[in-house]
Amino acid sequence: MRIPIIAGNWKMYKTEEEAFQLASELQKRLKDVNGVKVILCPPFTSLSSVRKAIENSLILLGAQNMHWEEKGAYTGEISPHMLLTAGCKHVIIGHSERRSYFSETDEFVNLKVKSALKFDLSPIICVGEKLDQREANKTEEVVEIQVKGAFKNLSAQEAEKTIIAYEPVWAIGTGRTATPAQANEVHTFIRELLSSEFGKQCADKINILYGGSVKPENSKELLGMPEIDGALVGGASLDAEFFEKIVRNAIES
Ligand code: PEP
Repeated sequence: MRIPIIAGNWKMYKTEEEAFQLASELQKRLKDVNGVKVILCPPFTSLSSVRKAIENSLILLGAQNMHWEEKGAYTGEISPHMLLTAGCKHVIIGHSERRSYFSETDEFVNLKVKSALKFDLSPIICVGEKLDQREANKTEEVVEIQVKGAFKNLSAQEAEKTIIAYEPVWAIGTGRTATPAQANEVHTFIRELLSSEFGKQCADKINILYGGSVKPENSKELLGMPEIDGALVGGASLDAEFFEKIVRNAIES
């Protein structure tokens, strides 16, 4: 049995103070919640304030990106060791916004995934097709290349510590959502792919989250699908009431 995971990707929103307020509010609202793993991924500048707001709670801290090196002359970058010592347990890797605006390739994603695991961070690996690729019936082909690229040279023991987020690019921040059946179909494909690469036992341990305009209204149906093990939430994670509802829907589904 996989415990559902609801992760909030706050993207480039919230000052340190605003992040503290939102995380404190969530900590209060989600006090009684169990049976679901909640992860908050604020910007780097707010990791410390969110860490303070969620201490003594079950909410976990995550980052949105990292470099693969432990340290070095990489101006503007953040290392996995820095994230670990800042209290992070998770890190989002290969988000489509990083792939498209910052030219992140599958090779970079693979380096980052391996490095995150080495530093005891569980990566949330994002994959997903663009609209023209879906329309050309290339969804599985694209997702297979991304999954195989991200997991290259990983052992099954390493692979089972990861989380995958299937995020169709055309559904991110657009208000368009994949239908529960469309998402479940791709999740099933990813699980089969993981099973053929690492064996069924390993594949069954990996949570596959859906991401793309998840809101309280559509979350129940999406999270109720057998292969959808949680959600990576962007816009709606910036609103405490919406995010709480999505978390509670994950428990009920
Ligand atoms: C995301 O940023 O990963 C995301 C899914 O965003 P949104 O929920 O806003 O579509």
